[in-house]
Amino acid sequence: MKRHLQLSIKQLSTCYAEGSISPGLVVDHSLDDAVKLKHLNAFIRLSPEKSLHQAKESNYRYENKKPLGILDGVPIAIKDNFCTKDLNTTCASKMLANFVPPFNGTVCERLLTAGAVLIGKTNMDQFAMGSGTVDSIFGPTKNVWSRDLSDGKWHITGGSSGGSATAVAAGICYAAIGSDTGGSTRNPASYCGVVGLKPTYGLVSRHGLIPLVNSMDVPGIFTRSVSDCVDVLNAIAGPDAKDSTTLRKPFRNINIPHFGDIDLRNIRIGIPKEYHCEGLSEEVLETWMKVADLLEDGGAHVQQVSLPNTAASIFVYSILNQCEVASNMARYDGIEYGHRADNESSTEELYAKTRAEGFNTVVKTRILTGNYFLLRKNYQKYFEKALRVRRLISDDFKRVFETPQDGENVVDVLLTPTTLTDAPLYSDFVSLSNRDQCAVQDFCTQPANMAGVPAISIPIRLSQRGLPIGLQLMSRSLNEEMLLRVASWIESQVEFDALANEQIYAARS
Ligand code: GLN
Repeated sequence: MKRHLQLSIKQLSTCYAEGSISPGLVVDHSLDDAVKLKHLNAFIRLSPEKSLHQAKESNYRYENKKPLGILDGVPIAIKDNFCTKDLNTTCASKMLANFVPPFNGTVCERLLTAGAVLIGKTNMDQFAMGSGTVDSIFGPTKNVWSRDLSDGKWHITGGSSGGSATAVAAGICYAAIGSDTGGSTRNPASYCGVVGLKPTYGLVSRHGLIPLVNSMDVPGIFTRSVSDCVDVLNAIAGPDAKDSTTLRKPFRNINIPHFGDIDLRNIRIGIPKEYHCEGLSEEVLETWMKVADLLEDGGAHVQQVSLPNTAASIFVYSILNQCEVASNMARYDGIEYGHRADNESSTEELYAKTRAEGFNTVVKTRILTGNYFLLRKNYQKYFEKALRVRRLISDDFKRVFETPQDGENVVDVLLTPTTLTDAPLYSDFVSLSNRDQCAVQDFCTQPANMAGVPAISIPIRLSQRGLPIGLQLMSRSLNEEMLLRVASWIESQVEFDALANEQIYAARS
């Protein structure tokens, strides 16, 4: 690996400005690495022509001392459920295998406006339904930390944005965009040893993000450090006329002058007792408690809190997810978008055959179950009830962050595990059904999506099997700055990136 791919975005941008490296060279190396690491299957498609052209324009701007900002010339990858103009956007599905959007989604457009270079589209679970990146028509993505990449011996990346997590973890690019509906950014970030941010719902536009669950979807950010994450968030956050669910308030760029430097004495950290759940591995529990102690030793007030409706999260998420999926997937009928079955005698037959051929079993099952929950006779029993419990889950967060009850203190940040274990072996993971996979792996991540609050996973250490373990921080809506400050303090204490540099990047130099 070329050493400059280990720099932070800020350092890279300084090098560009000084002229010691050029965007063209870095993008070349980034594309080279993507090809060299093809066996990980992080990318569905690279876009060398477009990216070399973008890099050339960036070279020119630096030569003329007019860079567009900190992301100018920085190679970034995008999950294949974000629309990219004139570049296939497949959702890793047969249904959209040949879909070429005529426009860029807002996230993509804002990155390009900031001068970033988009090097390609990353692998994912079909239509972002999954927690493994094992359900893609392009094959699964392999975890770069696996000691053995031979058949059945490698570990999953987590999902559904496993391609984006891998592109960053393997040092192919500086940042990648994923999506997060129930954990799809934080889960693979944790398994792959990178930072994964799910912003507050509505802070980043969903325009051009192919919907899974509109009421929970958010674009997510993968980077190797918290500081890089801030740089990307600043470029993509803020109101968007093309997405009526974005928050109206203008976004004020987050500015953290000294990463890792925060006075913890005024910070309250909550440890939700319900996250001590079944299936939590000893190692993750121990990591969680160690970091809680670290924060306390650093001066923070650490206290136990209760989010009593957490146990209902998986059921509520699953009902709401399937109902919204059933409705969202109705657009794929063989007429307007994507795949169309041949030689059908009636419109009805065309719909049926197109959908039977275009979707995998996971998608079909969710459509069927969702429609079942939405039947007139079931609607109140399932959908409406799930909405009510969702409100209770969301109120739990409000209580701990804003309106404590008698004897309680508000907390600024919650600290929890991200996933219950380190990355499972592919062979173990695929022997579970998709529902079980999600139920187990997303226990700690789904509640934040139902409440809309921001959450971040940061890498902490390696497990005995040599795989990353991450922890999650959550905060109240729009409190990203606090979340990122606390995350950067933890990052500075555990120094995981140095470890990654030593093991992952050194092995590839
Ligand atoms: N694993 C969850 C699901 O399949 C979350 C997916 C996501 O966040 N996109 O629904």
